[in-house]
Amino acid sequence: MQFNHDNMIGVHLAEELVNLDVDGPWTRDAVAATLTRFLVRIVELDDELAELRDWTRRLRAVFAATDTAARCEVINELLAVGVRQVHLAMHDDFPPHLHFARDEHRLTERVQAATIGGLAIFAVEARVGRMGLCSRPGCEHAYVDTSRNGRRAYCSAICGNGDAVQRYRERKAADRRSTNDESNHPERVLLDAK
Ligand SMILES: [Zn+2]
Ligand SMILES: [Zn+2]
Repeated sequence: MQFNHDNMIGVHLAEELVNLDVDGPWTRDAVAATLTRFLVRIVELDDELAELRDWTRRLRAVFAATDTAARCEVINELLAVGVRQVHLAMHDDFPPHLHFARDEHRLTERVQAATIGGLAIFAVEARVGRMGLCSRPGCEHAYVDTSRNGRRAYCSAICGNGDAVQRYRERKAADRRSTNDESNHPERVLLDAK
């Protein structure tokens, strides 16, 4: 599956803001660095730090939703608040792509528009899948899945591998317990043999 790169900017910005909120610190420098990486023009940030964080926490619900209907509902709620004006834009050598706010809008408004607009387009293309919160217990990171097979469940290879090791250990420990347990009935053996 190929995703339109230009509309993915808002999606990855949403992902990174959610993860910055998890990792912290939510400081002017950290937020500015993230926004700059995603080509968001920063005019005045200090007054809007808290507002941006509120929005980021609302975006988190898009990733946290566990079924299609719930995710669509969250996206619709945020679209109603976040989209200012939809239009085709061309800049920085990008081909025409959708913008959801004008350059004159406040920083927070532009971030709201870009993130939820991008997420809505991505949701359509990815049939509302291909995003979520990391499956590793204890990890709070969000992820966006642009892989070919679309089966990603972790924020990173580190979490994926760490979780595999953890589950392997738990399986080993369970095996040891059942070996020690004399009441080892056939059903259990059958399951383990799969
Ligand atoms: Zn643009
Ligand atoms: Zn993770």
